[in-house]
Amino acid sequence: MLDILIKGGMVIDGIGQQAFQADVGVAEGHIAVISQHAGQKAVHSIDAQGLHVAPGFIDPHAHSDYPLLVNRYAESKIRQGVTTEVVGNCGFSPAPLVGEAVAEGRIRMAKIGVEVTWRSMGEYLDILRKPGIAVNVVPLIGHNIIRGGVLGYDDVQPTPEQQVAMERLVREAMEQGGRGLSTGLFYPPGYYATTEEVIGLARVVGEYGGIYASHVRSESDLVLEAIAEALEIGEKAAVPVEVSHVKIEGHHNYDKVDRLLAMMDEAQAKELPVGFDQYPYTAAATWLSTALPHWTRVGGAEALVERMNDAQLRAELQRDWQQNRLEWDNRIGVRDWNDAIISDFPKRPDLLGKSIAEIAQSEGKDPLETVFDLIIASKGLADCILFTQSEEIVRTLMQHPLVATGSDGSSLKPDGVLGQRKAHPRNYGTFPRVLGRYVREEKTLTLEQAIKKMTSMSANRFGLTGRGVIREGAWADLVLFDANTVNDIATYTSPHTYPTGISYVIVNGRIVIERGQHTGVLAGSVL
Ligand SMILES: [Zn+2]
Repeated sequence: MLDILIKGGMVIDGIGQQAFQADVGVAEGHIAVISQHAGQKAVHSIDAQGLHVAPGFIDPHAHSDYPLLVNRYAESKIRQGVTTEVVGNCGFSPAPLVGEAVAEGRIRMAKIGVEVTWRSMGEYLDILRKPGIAVNVVPLIGHNIIRGGVLGYDDVQPTPEQQVAMERLVREAMEQGGRGLSTGLFYPPGYYATTEEVIGLARVVGEYGGIYASHVRSESDLVLEAIAEALEIGEKAAVPVEVSHVKIEGHHNYDKVDRLLAMMDEAQAKELPVGFDQYPYTAAATWLSTALPHWTRVGGAEALVERMNDAQLRAELQRDWQQNRLEWDNRIGVRDWNDAIISDFPKRPDLLGKSIAEIAQSEGKDPLETVFDLIIASKGLADCILFTQSEEIVRTLMQHPLVATGSDGSSLKPDGVLGQRKAHPRNYGTFPRVLGRYVREEKTLTLEQAIKKMTSMSANRFGLTGRGVIREGAWADLVLFDANTVNDIATYTSPHTYPTGISYVIVNGRIVIERGQHTGVLAGSVL
């Protein structure tokens, strides 16, 4: 007797073969049978005529670490068909917390009302396990948390003992369930690290068969050098590399795309264990403070706010901005402040969705002065959305065989604390957007190619055996969708909106989305 029998759907296996019609039977969490006419009886029978049946989507780049503690149902992800999220990205994981990282962690989590009750990776993962989560989670260890914990948030280099202390923290976290190291070398304090420091830490995860995932040092003026550094770290530490949310920011950098594609081709030709992930949007989302040069953020949020109150420093920043000094490495890439939109601002909902240009005009101020003042008023916590990329480059990168789909987003929900900010639409729309806009409408990818980028590619990179594929014996993580109607609905102005066309989502053999509705089943595991 089967638990579930999915009848008459078009099966896409996840490894790129052409779709074929078959019945798929599920028993005890696994795919038990794939057949033209499975005759077995089942507890649940799903009529999948007119639907495609694919492996559940694997999001290689998620930030749901904290949101999952607020809402374990993972609404905005599971409703896209995502069954596994890789969390702890961009150098920021909730664990392990030591030293000054405890206070930084508290500030971040206070934003969504989460109390920090854990310290180690093992303790954090236990909180996810009980009472459970709707999606599977693959935890990475964040370099910024490790470095902040051991060295604090200043621009300093580790002594040999401190380097050993960081490596020991990574080792402990790997033994407690970590699957790799993530860096956010664009952000403090990771930005202060040398390549050598990161190689030392990446070597440790390599010993455990882990991966090195990086939000590289620059995605604008120095993007090629930054990606080269990530590849060097992988080579020297002997670990697979995942370059996170690959993109090129700033109009004046768009011509770098040819060289970037050549780097990807070379990695592919040499069969290096290197991958990239990408979200299908031309806007980024991050802290407003990243509009300023790195040195303004040395020492953490309080030091940043103090600097913004210093008239002389403000004058210096104004001068540097006017002269477009290179060391600014300004990812905003916009000289047009209409392209920077406030997405989160503590206690000022009136500012949400407004551009810096609009706010500056209404307050009769210069835009950069407005940025300084907004950073002070938000205590450094304001977030923004930045339109800095080219649609053509998004499409070109998407077509490269090493590029997988990843959201760079979190599991959110329209109501409650997770729905209060003007989030980036990628949190709700990434996967359906690729299937609707880039497969059906623009034909940038075939359906089979797109599904492979959402499933087996990330499963292979992150070592998720028996996932990301439809074959007998594999885990029954599945999504049933209508290829004619699947679409993202979330927009920049109305981001908290679920997509259409995702009918059923099955996690570890249990139905979590049934006819488009959440069943409340917490079927996910920590992988
Ligand atoms: Zn990032």
